[in-house]
This record gives sequence, structure tokens and C-alpha cells, in this order.
Amino acid sequence: MADTTETEYDVAVIGAGAAGLAAARMLHDVGAQVIVIEARPRIGGRIWTERSCGWYPIELGAELIHGAQTSTVDLAEKAGLTLDEVDRYNGLRWGRPARLISELSPDDPARRAIEQARAVWNLLAQRYPDDAADCSLADELRQHGFTPMALSIADVVLAQTCCAEVELLSCLDLAREQRVDRAGPREFRLRARYDTLLAWLARGLDLHLGRPVQAITDHGDRVTVHTTAGPLGARHCIITVPVAVLAAGMIRFDPPLSAGKQAAIAAFRTRPATKHFFWFDAPLWDEGFAYAAHNGLFARWWTPAHPDLAAPLLCCYVTAERAAVLDRLPDATVREIGLAELGQLLGRDDVATHCVGFRRYRWAADAYARGGYAHLPPGMAWARPVLAAAEGNLHFAGEATAYDSNPQTVHGAIDSGQRAAREIFN
Ligand SMILES: Cc1cc2nc3c(=O)[nH]c(=O)nc-3n(C[C@H](O)[C@H](O)[C@H](O)COP(=O)(O)OP(=O)(O)OC[C@H]3O[C@@H](n4cnc5c(N)ncnc54)[C@H](O)[C@@H]3O)c2cc1C
Repeated sequence: MADTTETEYDVAVIGAGAAGLAAARMLHDVGAQVIVIEARPRIGGRIWTERSCGWYPIELGAELIHGAQTSTVDLAEKAGLTLDEVDRYNGLRWGRPARLISELSPDDPARRAIEQARAVWNLLAQRYPDDAADCSLADELRQHGFTPMALSIADVVLAQTCCAEVELLSCLDLAREQRVDRAGPREFRLRARYDTLLAWLARGLDLHLGRPVQAITDHGDRVTVHTTAGPLGARHCIITVPVAVLAAGMIRFDPPLSAGKQAAIAAFRTRPATKHFFWFDAPLWDEGFAYAAHNGLFARWWTPAHPDLAAPLLCCYVTAERAAVLDRLPDATVREIGLAELGQLLGRDDVATHCVGFRRYRWAADAYARGGYAHLPPGMAWARPVLAAAEGNLHFAGEATAYDSNPQTVHGAIDSGQRAAREIFN
């Protein structure tokens, strides 16, 4: 690709999600000339606070901050934003009707499966050093005596969170993450919602929205980024688009990325993730209801509002095969099945008559996400650091590249963006 574009910027950041905004913020703050180029007409990527739905602001994408020792908490504190702690796990209710785990008999098969699944999970770092042979999380659980029924429960409480099937999660990759995990078990929500943190990160940045990047040329001494609005030049480029976007070939590279990088991109899987929101004319649950699960299609439910701001609203978040099945069905059918399962979960037969609104967002149908967040199947744990490695003037960030943090999270994405920024100015 011949190109004569002058170098206009020190750094072009591709993507205005958490990773891109964090990278651009850091570079801008040390005086670099940075441009952020984003395909969508909005910032945030897989963080998307919806304020126009008429009832209550909802998070169509990320909602929680997973851990007190995270870059998200650090930035929220700098931005002066209030955090509300959420205790989903101790409040988990299971079954139909759903009951607190601690209230189930110690011999209850569901309680045993959930407690054992968590225990096996907590041992992964110990059992899978970097040079161990890899296997799926399902195989690891089978080695601990998990039956198909117990595995189906582990699929809900462990794998759904990872946007994957329990059969397709690499133990080596999960163990690597546990070894570098500094976040801790506490969870939070931003009281003013995630978009306020994004707006704080984006303040004063040179943002170009609605400009899909189509190609990137690395000339050796500079980079040309080809967008739908024409080319622009920069000394370095940080690419933060989801790995599924790279795998789909939506951006051409000249020269082509190395064979190793291409193999790493191909190693990741990104499965569907869909959030379903149900509004009611009044809360149909008791005050303690925060998080409930069962092994139906609509597997995990929670109250997305802070109790102080109680809203008659429930979120059901499903991923992987469950989301793939539901995504193919029309809204009316999905709403009907969801309410039927919720009725069983709450132990009442009148939920449908109280439902006043329904909304879902299917990330698999979103061209610039192409699913929820990426995971690595067994045998592919090598791919994460390879995806993250710089090539020439190209630097790679985004949740999937967070080999030294927690992939699949906002703080992992932020950490990766800050790591890529440091690669350039250190
Ligand atoms: C439904 C759902 C729920 C989640 N819940 C949580 C949660 O509670 N807590 C948590 O920590 N994490 C959660 N996550 C994960 C979290 O949202 C992501 O890990 C994080 O937001 C990813 O940030 P990123 O910057 O890596 O990618 P993205 O946010 O996807 O940003 C990449 C950007 O690149 C843009 N882009 C793509 N292609 C192009 C192109 N050709 N040209 C220009 N721009 C392009 C995209 O539009 C996007 O804005 C959730 C994710 C989903 C989908």
C-alpha cells in the first residue's frame, strides 16, 4: 500500500473502549499528541450505559468492578466517583424456587456441587504451573468426581461468568490469571454508572467517533491508519479492538502481522453474551434478593440497582451456548420463556402479569464486539502473551491481551491499555 501521509500524531489509538481510553489518557497526560479513532458513534465499547430506556439507567455491557485492588477502583477514586459494594456470592440463591446456598442441607447435591466447584477453582493456580499439561475445566472437575449433573451446575457458577462452556476453558490460562490476580474478591458498582468513569477518562482527548479503521500500514518509521474518513499518520499505533474483530479480518495489516500473531488471534474464542432486562410494576422479590441462579436457559439473575435506589428491575445475563440459543429467538418468545423461568425461580405464578417492560442486547450481533469477551480453549494458553506483544510500531491492548492482569474485565482492559502506553513512552 503506497502512502505519503505525513506523521501528524505521536500515537493513534484504535478503539475508545476501556483499554483505548486508558492508553490515550496516560499518553495525553505525559504530553503526547494522541488521536483516538473509534468505529462507533459513542465511546465505551463493551461498556454501554443506556440512559434513554425510560425507566432506569441500565448497563448493557459491563456493570461490576471485580476487585478492590484494581485500576478501575483507582481511577474511580481519582475521578471522585462513589462505589457501592455488592456481595453477590454470599447472597447466591440456587434452584427453583431459589434458596440461599447456606440454607440448603450440606448434602444437597447443588450445594455440594457449588462448594466443590469453587474449591477446585481456587486450587487451579497450584495444580497448573506454567509447564503443566493443559486440560479443560470440565476435565479437571471430572478428576474431582464431578458427575454430569454437578458439571452442569459448575457450568453456570464458573463458566457462564467466563463467557464460555466449562468444556472449553483452558485450566492453564485460568491458573495463569489466578497467579497474577491482585484484584481480590470484593465487588462494586459505580453509583453514577460506568459511563461517568468513561467520560472522566475521555476528557480533553482528541476523539474521532464513527470512523471504522479499515487498514493499518507500518512503514517502519511511522504508521498510516486508513479510516472511512481517509488516512492519517502517527509514529505509533495502539490497537485495542476486540480479538474477534481482528480474527474476522476487519482490519488489513501491511505488512501482514507475523505468523505467530495470526496464530494467537486465531486461538481465541469469543462466544455470545446477552443481557436481558425485565421491568415490573413493583419488586416481586424480598429485600435480600441480590443474585440467583439455576441450570435453566436463563441461568443467572440479579438486581442491577443499588438497594438505596431500589428499582423493580431484574437483569438476566447469559453467555455461551445459552445466549446462542436465546439470541436466535424473537423478543416475544424470549420474554415469555424468561418470565416462566423467573416465576419458577421466585416460586410465584404471576410474574408475567407484573412485567411492564423487556429489553435485551445481543453482543454477538454487534459488529464491533462480535460476542462477549474472549477465552482460550485447552492447549492455547500460550496465545495471550503473544497477542499482547508489540510488532514494529504496532502495540496491542484490550481485555484479551491482559496476560498480566484479569482478562475479560474492565480493569484488565485498562491495565492492558496502560501497559501499551508505557511500551511507547518508557
Ligand atoms: C455483557 C457484558 C457484561 C460484562 N460485564 C462485566 C462486568 O460486570 N465487569 C467487568 O469488569 N467486565 C465486564 N465485561 C467485560 C468488559 O466489558 C470488557 O472486558 C471491557 O469493557 C473490554 O474493553 P476493551 O477496551 O478491551 O474492548 P472494547 O470495549 O470492545 O473496546 C474496543 C473498541 O474498539 C472499537 N472498534 C472495533 N473495531 C473497530 C474498527 N475497525 N475501527 C475502530 N474502532 C473499532 C469498538 O467499537 C470498541 O469501542 C462485560 C462484557 C460484556 C459484553
